[in-house]
Amino acid sequence: MTRSPSWTTGWWRERLLEGLFPSTCGVCGAPVGAGGAVCAGCLADLPRVAAPCPRCGEPETAADLCARCQRHAPRLDRLHAPWLYAWPLDRLILARKHADDATAARVLRELARRAAGEVTDAMADIHPDVPQGPDCVVPVPLHPERYRERGFNQALELAQEVARRLEVPLASRLVVRVRATESQQGLGRRERRRNVARAFALRSGAELPEAAYVLLVDDVATTGATLDALAEVLYAAGAARVDALTLARA
Ligand SMILES: [Zn+2]
Ligand SMILES: [Zn+2]
Repeated sequence: MTRSPSWTTGWWRERLLEGLFPSTCGVCGAPVGAGGAVCAGCLADLPRVAAPCPRCGEPETAADLCARCQRHAPRLDRLHAPWLYAWPLDRLILARKHADDATAARVLRELARRAAGEVTDAMADIHPDVPQGPDCVVPVPLHPERYRERGFNQALELAQEVARRLEVPLASRLVVRVRATESQQGLGRRERRRNVARAFALRSGAELPEAAYVLLVDDVATTGATLDALAEVLYAAGAARVDALTLARA
């Protein structure tokens, strides 16, 4: 489990360029301070997940756990998802994923850094027993075929920011996607679970630190089926706790 050196140069070059040239907000176009990607107004206007279920992030949960988690607890210990999958985050995520939009990528990276900061605060409250936070950050892997088509993995880009912000190792080669799953779009809860079952595996030869606390990272969580399938693999490999951080909760 090592920090991947291949992206470091590009990462620093991008940060340097962002610092040298004044930026505009990636949502409304207003000028923002050097290096900024989104203005304070747009940031404050992002629709937040109100009263989330502490396990699955379901919004507007009145009780300690949402009804679904009470019936059937997810494998994931906790989903941290600060914002709703609604405008403008839905547009930004789709623009990055399908149109390779550089502005959207910049905004999403900034939001990942902010979300990671919030997770640090939340963890201090939630896990006083693990004050050091996660042992590693794991992006949801793309199948190699999909990666070749797309040329990037959005989850990896966000995980890089989260790992840096939390100052923990990025374990981008710990798990692999062994099955190219169908798109989850338009599938119901049950179909999504079936679709991602056995989609992931520990990379051969990879090892987790003993009783590891792992933080998974992705752009958006819908039913949590993908994150649960990954958590399953990590528990089987000896993880003690698996949380996830996504920017948005659908
Ligand atoms: Zn703005
Ligand atoms: Zn729940």
